[in-house]
Amino acid sequence: MNEFDLIRRYFQPLDRSFRADDGVVLGVGDDCALLQPPAGQQLAVSIDTLVEGIHFLSGTDKVRLGHKALAVNLSDLAAMGAEPLWFMLGLTIPKPDTHWLADFSQGVAALAQEAGIRLIGGDTTRGPCSVTIQVTGAVPVGQALTRAGAKPGDDIYVSGVLGLGGLGLLVRKQGVEDDETTHDWVDKLEKPVPRLALGRALRGIASACIDISDGFLQDLQHILDASQVGASLDIETIPVPRWAKGFTHLSPKLTDQTALRDYCLQCGDDYELCFTAPVSQRDVIANLTPQWGLGVTRVGSIVAQPGLQTCDGKPIVIGGYQHF
Ligand code: ADP
Ligand code: MG
Repeated sequence: MNEFDLIRRYFQPLDRSFRADDGVVLGVGDDCALLQPPAGQQLAVSIDTLVEGIHFLSGTDKVRLGHKALAVNLSDLAAMGAEPLWFMLGLTIPKPDTHWLADFSQGVAALAQEAGIRLIGGDTTRGPCSVTIQVTGAVPVGQALTRAGAKPGDDIYVSGVLGLGGLGLLVRKQGVEDDETTHDWVDKLEKPVPRLALGRALRGIASACIDISDGFLQDLQHILDASQVGASLDIETIPVPRWAKGFTHLSPKLTDQTALRDYCLQCGDDYELCFTAPVSQRDVIANLTPQWGLGVTRVGSIVAQPGLQTCDGKPIVIGGYQHF
């Protein structure tokens, strides 16, 4: 199978319209795609690479790999409050393995359909396995959520429960997936759900927003840096899994609830949203999410003094996943 057969067979079928006016004048197959940006909207553009052995384990199910490669990019669109439009796929694989390609493209296709995002092109090369996806979304002019708008006095919120994906990684590494809980954690790691509806709903409400991919504390710090403010966190209120049984079989460091919480606030792979909003928006935010079965929790507030502290004034030391 040559490169062109491969593209025709596995990826051209993903070049499908999910809405009448999707702005694709010319999709997969020419030297460039031709796109008509929607009137009155700004384009939100992002790219992420997953490298085998670094961002995913070699044995990862390929349907799930396809899902995750797109999901982590959609999570960035969610963080900006953008609507998904188009994506490009850069694929490097050691050989054209038909099972690999069938599974991978199926995982990408299912999420693309769900999110209403259309494949418009890409690049296919031979080499050590890595997947790069570039997404484009649209957001009404001036309404994108950025990291830079947090003001002293604003509340800080997170969606979902933090640390589940990071615990899923420990479960996978130790090979101890043995009950419903560990299974759910691995699902969070391998099939993250981008919070697109929440991101959209936060337009005009949130003052700053980021998706949590490299650990909550580290990603919150990005909001603090961009907004030139600090944060006071009510550590006890941050949603993390409850200490049920011993976790030392996952990591010798996970000896008690405090150690578990520290891990959950600093591990990667959450793909939840962290955002800030003025106190006046509390009721609006409380009414936002029950309809999706997704909780949002208020975990602290923005302060003028730079840095991260607990609500009784103790400094919080940051770790988190860093690539270098
Ligand atoms: P060129 O040599 O002109 O850069 P390519 O041979 O790389 O073109 O690609 C031919 C067409 O197939 C282009 O439209 C490109 O966007 C598309 N394409 C290549 N790889 C992929 C892929 N993995 N997924 C989707 N489209 C792809
Ligand atoms: Mg060309």
